[in-house]
Amino acid sequence: MDRKLEPGANREPPEFEGVGEELLAEKKELFRGILQKEKQKLLKNAQRTLTEDMTLDPDDLPDEMDLATADYHQGLAFRLRGRERLLLEKIDQASERLENGDYWWCDSCGAWIGFNRLSARPVTTLCIVCKSQQEHRERAYAD
Ligand SMILES: [Zn+2]
Repeated sequence: MDRKLEPGANREPPEFEGVGEELLAEKKELFRGILQKEKQKLLKNAQRTLTEDMTLDPDDLPDEMDLATADYHQGLAFRLRGRERLLLEKIDQASERLENGDYWWCDSCGAWIGFNRLSARPVTTLCIVCKSQQEHRERAYAD
């Protein structure tokens, strides 16, 4: 953890000098919209998954091959829901962070995350430096 880094160092263009309240308010509005859209998209997907589940009642499928297919699809739907549930939590947390002003700052080192990175990954809580360190650690443990 390197606390010497100023907000924006390595994470925003060199001319970055912090943002004024007006721009921040504008961006807050923008990202609020982005997060809402993400959530709506997710809920729509989840709903579709549920609808598809209902058509996959194993009792309606007579032979073994169809049962195997049903199991496969149900497994898929279940995994998808797990992933969606996790993402939904992240979106809600991001919305909370946005409202209380934590959204712009790295959860780990406190650095400015940057609008570019947040546009690409609206639910991220880490700056690019901490994220790559985390990925590095995860790779190290996986091996
Ligand atoms: Zn960081």
